[in-house]
Parts: sequence; C-alpha cells; structure tokens
Amino acid sequence: MTLWEHCRIFHRAVKELCYRMEKRYTIAMVLDAFLGAVIGYVPIYFSARLIDALYERRPLETLVLYVALTVGLVFGLRLLHTYVVSVKQISEENIYRKEQWGYSEKAMELSYASIEDPEVDRLRYRIQKESQTGYNLYYLHRLIEDFTREFTSVLASIALVSSFFVLPEISLLARLAMLGGVFLTLAVHIVCTNISQKINRGLWDNVDMNIWGEQFSDYVEDYGSGKDIRLFAMEDFLAEEAYRREFDYCRHTVEISCRQALLTIPGIVLENVLKYGVYACLIVAALAGGITVGSIAKYVSCIMLLLSALQRIAGDIPLWMENNHYLKRYFSYFDIPNEMYRGTLTVEKRDDNDYQVEFRDVSFRYPNTQEYALRHVNLKFKIGEKLAIVGQNGSGKTTFIKLLCRLYDPCEGEILLNGVNIQKYDYDEYLSIFSVVFQDFQLFDFRLGEVVASGRRFDAKKVRECLEKANFGERFRELPRGAETYLYKGFDQSGLEISGGEAQKIALARALYRDAPFILLDEPTAALDPISEYEVYSNFNSISGDKTAVYISHRLASCRFCDKIAVFDKGRIVQVGKHEELVRETDGKYHELWTAQAQYYAG
Ligand code: ADP
Repeated sequence: MTLWEHCRIFHRAVKELCYRMEKRYTIAMVLDAFLGAVIGYVPIYFSARLIDALYERRPLETLVLYVALTVGLVFGLRLLHTYVVSVKQISEENIYRKEQWGYSEKAMELSYASIEDPEVDRLRYRIQKESQTGYNLYYLHRLIEDFTREFTSVLASIALVSSFFVLPEISLLARLAMLGGVFLTLAVHIVCTNISQKINRGLWDNVDMNIWGEQFSDYVEDYGSGKDIRLFAMEDFLAEEAYRREFDYCRHTVEISCRQALLTIPGIVLENVLKYGVYACLIVAALAGGITVGSIAKYVSCIMLLLSALQRIAGDIPLWMENNHYLKRYFSYFDIPNEMYRGTLTVEKRDDNDYQVEFRDVSFRYPNTQEYALRHVNLKFKIGEKLAIVGQNGSGKTTFIKLLCRLYDPCEGEILLNGVNIQKYDYDEYLSIFSVVFQDFQLFDFRLGEVVASGRRFDAKKVRECLEKANFGERFRELPRGAETYLYKGFDQSGLEISGGEAQKIALARALYRDAPFILLDEPTAALDPISEYEVYSNFNSISGDKTAVYISHRLASCRFCDKIAVFDKGRIVQVGKHEELVRETDGKYHELWTAQAQYYAG
C-alpha cells in the first residue's frame, strides 16, 4: 500500500468506524489522550520555575503563586480528565456492540449468492477473527489515542526544551549528533517493527491453519455431529488431527515470537546510547554554568519525555500501517455490493389470478464454478397449475426453484412473470408472491406463533389452522401454551423439542401462513413418516388451493396428482407432460425413474 492509500484508509476508518459510529466516544478518546499528556507537563514547568525562584531568593508571594498554579492547574485538569474518561467508558460498550451488529447487518444485506460464496465466507471469518485479536477497531482506537498523546507530548516537550538546543555551551557537533541520533533511533524502530508486523501477518495469511481450530470446536461441540463422532468412533482420529494441527500452529507462533523478540534489540541499544549522550551534554552545559538548577530538572524530564514519545510514535507507525491492511480487508467485506438488480415495477395484483411464469432459455452456473447447474431450460406454467419437478440428485431441481424466487439471477436467458423479466419487479414485492419450503429450511428458536408467522405479531387462529393443514394439529392441541410455546430451548428451557418430520410440518405451516399465490415445495415430505406423507399428498389440493404449486419430489407416485411434470436430467428439462403420458414413453427418463422406483417399493 502506498502512503496515500494508508492515509485514505485511516481517514475513512476514523470517519466511519469512530466518529460516525459513536461521536461522543471519539471526542472523549481524543480529549482523554490530550489531557493525559498535558497534565504531566504542568508540574515540570512550574517546579522548574519554583526551584529557580528559590535559588534566586524571590519574594514569598512569587513562590506561593507558583505552588498555587501547579496545584490548581493539575487539580482542575485532573477533574476534567476524570470526567472525560467516564464519558469515554460509558460509550465504549456501544461502539463494540455496534461493530458486532455491523456484521449481522451486512450479512442480511448481502445477496444470497454472496452468502453462499465460500470466498466471502472466508473473508468474513478472517476479519471477524482479526477483530477479536485486537486488529481493526481496537487498534484503531489505540492508535488515535497514542498519536494524540504522543504528538501532544512532542509539542509540549519541544516548547519546553527548545532553549536547550541553542545553548552556546553545547557544540554544533553535539547538537547534530543528538539530532542524528533521534532520527536514527526512529528509523531503526520503524524498520524493525515493520519487519516484525510482516512476520505476524504471515501467521494470519495462513487462514486454513486458523480456521481449523474453529472447525474443530464446531464438530465436537455440536450435538448434531456428536452422534456421528460417537457412532463412528471418530474421537481418536479427530483428537490426533487437532493435536497435529495445534502442534504446527504453536511451533509456528513460537518461531515468530523469537524472531520478533530479536528485532527489538537494535532499537533498545540505540535508545540507551542516545539517552546517555543527552545526559552527557546536560552535564557539560551545567558545569559550564549555562543552565540554571531549575532548568536542569526541566530539561532532563522533557528530553526523556520527548524521546519516549518519539519512540512510541516510531513503534506505532508500523502498527498503524499494519492495521490499515486489516482495515482495508474489513472495508473490502463491507463494500461487497448486493449485485442483485432490483427493479421498481410493482407486481400486478390480478383479480383473475391469471399469472404466467416462463423460463426462457435459462442457463445458470453457481459463482466460482465451471459446470452449469441448469442448461437451456424452457418451461411455462400458469397460476393454479400444480407443477411437479422430478429428477435424480444433482439434476438441477433446487437450483430451478432458487432462480424462480430470485435467490440467484440466471447467467443466460430470462425468467418472465406475465411477460415481464422478473428482474424488473421490485425485489421485495416479487419475493412476497412466494411461499417456499426448502429441503434445508431453518426454524428459529422463537414462539411457535412467531415461527409460523415469521414475525413478532401473529394471528393465533390462523397459526392453528395452518398447523392443522400441515398435519401438526394433533401435537399442537397437546401444547398447554399453544402458539406461545417456544420452539427448541434457545430462549426457553421448557421449549419444545421436535423431530425432523415435525419440523418439516411446521415449515410447511409457515409457508401456508404466508398465503402467497405461489407455493414452492422442495421435497416437503422427505422427513415424514408414511402416514403423514400420505396425508400431505391427499390434502395437497386443499393445502395449495388455487395457488400455483411447484413441487419437487423423489416419490414419483406423489406427482401423479400434478397437472404437469417436468423431468430434469443433468441440468436440462428432458420431458414435460402428465404422468400417464410420460410413463408411456418407455425410452424416456421418467419411465426409467418410475420403473426403478416401482421395483424398490415392490421389493
Ligand atoms: P437437485 O436439487 O436436483 O438435487 P441442485 O439444484 O441442488 O440439484 O444442484 C444442481 C447442481 O448444482 C449440482 O451439481 C450441485 O453440485 C450444484 N450446486 C448446488 N448448489 C451449489 C452451490 N451453492 N455452489 C456450487 N454448486 C452447487
């Protein structure tokens, strides 16, 4: 990164991650550092004046004035400082909460394609982890504080010691040597800290090494994988793998720490040489009578403060540069656009319910993949129709549904609703016409009513009706708290634990509650027992009513009631028709799937 880029990123971070996020905190942080630095110089300045006044036998009033000024100023500044620190502490929690919430907000704002993109996931993981180890926000605050404190210190020291450097008792050579020493110490500090940061970055660049720890805890702490680990006796294998990787990680970090420790030596040596050089100059000047007793104390303190401030600035510059790399990555995640084209057309609310959907030569491949998941798909269906989609695993059925409800946009071709490309419709409004149950649906640990209504407010009667329709009625009636019952135990210890099949019924009820004109079901009965499955099929017409239903199923027998069946094979639609027609085509894919299934069920 160039210096200009560093400055740009730092400026953006101060603006967006500090000032805009929590103005009060930022102002308090700068004031805290400024006052903290200034307070130290008040007694230095006045005690020098006091010593000189004593030495020169000045009147008592002058002495009292200096004492009063020192005490009064220090007391006032300390009071102000304490107030500022309290303000800072109060708002500190807010800024970190806002930062954490920022990740969730961003995740919700991203397009589904980005959420599913492993590269985006790795980037998010990395910046979140880096933030937890101090980089990004914490270092940003620390650096703002440090720079404010050190620059205040440098300015105050220079103001108090400038007269020392022009003393005639100090030779030109000594002055040049002191100046050169300061620059050399600074340069060595910057170079060494920079190398040290680079070494540290190398550790972070090895994301796989870091991700493993997280992955391992996910495996062993998750009760879902707990079953597999125990039943397949994978404990030893996992422990060995964890030990091997942890060992590698520790060896790597110890190596890095040793190299970083060695890099601090040159700076420390130079710093001490400089310090004793300055002392020598002071002694020479004092012996020659060039400085007063009070000034000696002042110069000694200020020169030491100046040196340590410069040294800290030198140490902070590489850290600042390093942190800018993290901030750059942080912003690169937060700058990921939602590339879904969001049109503005409203979806026509037709009284005659005469909607028509058309896939016109649609092809699609997932981001970062070469293989097409769908190839030249052409299909039309009308509202009220029941369309079944069948095909082997990986033939593109779920992808078809994802495209229909705009989780992704086609790479080629277009999808039309009533003759208009679906991208032209207002995104949220378009999504509102679909009720979907995916295979990998997610139910949240909220109250049952909230889960079914997908919101805080729900109509308890409608919730019950939908659960009845989805075949969950019997279980629901047994619940003393009805729709108020919490699902799972996330927020309530007495929450309801349910089986996979029951979860699928609730997911179906959630789709029905939405009451949208399109109902899309991706294997809605896969986890149901045969009786529940039969009930869902036989109620299917009353469940879906006059809605358009797109229904993915492996059980071909369940597709017989559909108006149209589309057979997918390797991303293409190879047959479309009614069950009787398709079965008759003995060389077709449907016939092959049908006879294969008939064989298994007969057996
Ligand atoms: P089906 O629902 O018929 O089992 P899918 O539509 O889920 O099939 O998958 C079609 C193809 O797309 C498969 O080859 C699958 O591996 C691939 N695929 C599905 N989801 C993703 C994804 N998120 N990223 C990359 N490839 C995917």
